[in-house]
Amino acid sequence: PPSIRRISDKYDKVFVTGCLEPDTSGPRANAAFVVLARNKELEGVIQSIKSIERHFNRWFHYPYVFLNDGDFNQTFKDTITNYTSAPVEFGKIDPWMWGYPDWVDEAVAKEGVAKQGDAAIMYGGMESYHHMCRFYSGFFYKHELLQKYEWYWRLEPEIKYFCDITYDPFIHMDRANKTYGFTIAVKELRETVPNIFRYASAYKRINNLTSQGLWEMFIEKPEDKPADLPKDDPKYTKPLPDEILNTEPGAGALPEVDPEAMEGESYNMCHFWSNFEIAKLDWFRSKEYNDFFEMMDRSGGFWMERWGDAPIHSLAAGALLSPRDIHYFRDFGYRHTTIQHCPANAPMRQLPREPFLEATTTDEKARKEEDQYWAEWDQERENGVGCRCK
Ligand code: GDP
Ligand code: MN
Repeated sequence: PPSIRRISDKYDKVFVTGCLEPDTSGPRANAAFVVLARNKELEGVIQSIKSIERHFNRWFHYPYVFLNDGDFNQTFKDTITNYTSAPVEFGKIDPWMWGYPDWVDEAVAKEGVAKQGDAAIMYGGMESYHHMCRFYSGFFYKHELLQKYEWYWRLEPEIKYFCDITYDPFIHMDRANKTYGFTIAVKELRETVPNIFRYASAYKRINNLTSQGLWEMFIEKPEDKPADLPKDDPKYTKPLPDEILNTEPGAGALPEVDPEAMEGESYNMCHFWSNFEIAKLDWFRSKEYNDFFEMMDRSGGFWMERWGDAPIHSLAAGALLSPRDIHYFRDFGYRHTTIQHCPANAPMRQLPREPFLEATTTDEKARKEEDQYWAEWDQERENGVGCRCK
């Protein structure tokens, strides 16, 4: 049987090992925390700020940018400012970045959203959630308060960091020439993105993009465990023929496809969980990323389905980046709601499938490399990568 080879040692390693005193002597990156939130989430935001301040930012003092489609009230602003000594800015999101664009038939879109509500799709019936996902997919990096920054670190209400982060991840990302960093990869709920992969793979095909190796992370392989949920009709997982892409844009444009007419790759639902992200804003600002977003957007999938920004960012990365552009923050202890990553307590070999790290091979040499990788990893953990999660 083929062995699984970890490819992370080849492309990506933990930046710093050992228990360190935070080294704050070097220069800072041009970077900020980005937090999208509503006034009513103040308590959850405080929890997140306390956690990141305690474990990182009390040493590094990176600024925060808070964004909201509404107005932050004075209580929110005053309270947040009290929990950090770093600079804080509060911004309002322009209506053109949030809500229905003028090319959308709003009645059709609202109907689409309502149907997902009836079908009990998670957040499917919540209009504001659709807007939020679209904002994080194609607009946050265009906000005026982010224009001066090169890097961002996304924070959400109700997250928790378990471990002290004693080095500057932006500086290390920059040095290692990384574009996108994650700490958790999970499977998406299939019913929220039934057509997303057809559009993403069509984008790749139309632009003659050949895989640089990361795309494979998102492809269902024969040895994959069956998805938790029953698969939808196979027509949703097949690539999109060109003629369909010529349909008029707008909500409701998601087309029916003859399943017999096509064959090919299907999406395994993997994605980087985007409530944590450290990434280079220039990548999002690139023409390639924006073409990708535009095509996905024009399909109407942000309303007719409930496409999350996580699978959007992930599939864009799959189409445009290579494994060496990605950094896995395996040493960050992080939790959001029910899912967490703990570098010390979670035995790395038993984590749920880490597709980014896996490639299949029957090669003996590769198998040895695999063993070597794990030996090194065990040693790194002994030396104090990450922390104990209590
Ligand atoms: P979940 O993590 O997928 O369960 O979704 P959340 O409710 O945490 O939303 C994701 C992020 O978007 C969080 O930072 C929320 O504060 C933010 N968010 C979601 N909906 C809205 C909204 O309507 N307005 C604003 N300003 N922020 C929102
Ligand atoms: Mn959340």
